[in-house]
Amino acid sequence: MSNGVRMNRKLEYYLSEVLLTAEQIQGRVAELGAQISRDYAGRDLLLIGILKGAVIFLSDLLRHITIPVQVDFMAVSSYGAATLSSGVVRILKDLDEVVEGREVLVVEDIIDTGLTLRYLRENLQARQPAGVRICTLLDKPDRRVVEVPVDYLGFRIPYRFVVGYGLDCKVHFRNLPYIAAVDQEKIRELF
Ligand code: 5GP
Repeated sequence: MSNGVRMNRKLEYYLSEVLLTAEQIQGRVAELGAQISRDYAGRDLLLIGILKGAVIFLSDLLRHITIPVQVDFMAVSSYGAATLSSGVVRILKDLDEVVEGREVLVVEDIIDTGLTLRYLRENLQARQPAGVRICTLLDKPDRRVVEVPVDYLGFRIPYRFVVGYGLDCKVHFRNLPYIAAVDQEKIRELF
């Protein structure tokens, strides 16, 4: 038992399809790291990882960045237990670092409606950084409500609820090394 959720079965049982393999993800993350290293060479870069979903992406990306870089984290509430965005974003953990005058790169797991990243971008802009850019591993454009410019993108995917590589469903599946869609019928067994 964990958080009232019983997991008697293997994680794979609850999945319908692998969308991105570990190899595909690793290859793209290496490319993004190289691109960020080129773009920010000679500048004071602060990566801001958005907890908890971006943790694995951030830690892999970081190892492909070859210039000096600092790391901080924010935690925001988005979906909670449901799979639909409420549009209400709340800061659960704020930054330790001051961002004024610095180049900030937000590292997010996935952009869906865009509401979370719009809020984060506005919140960070108000702190007067030298610049704010966004790096997201996944983009699901089908349900976009607000347009948010994405500067670095891993993969565009169709609308599916996905898990793995840091992304969870009902607190599980973050440890999968690949990205998969959940089986909407079987996942109900986890309630
Ligand atoms: P948005 O505000 O863009 O609608 O949603 C962004 C946040 O919703 C992401 O940071 C992530 O926490 C969550 N989210 C959106 N789509 C998915 C999904 O397919 N799987 C998971 N696990 N989380 C998602």
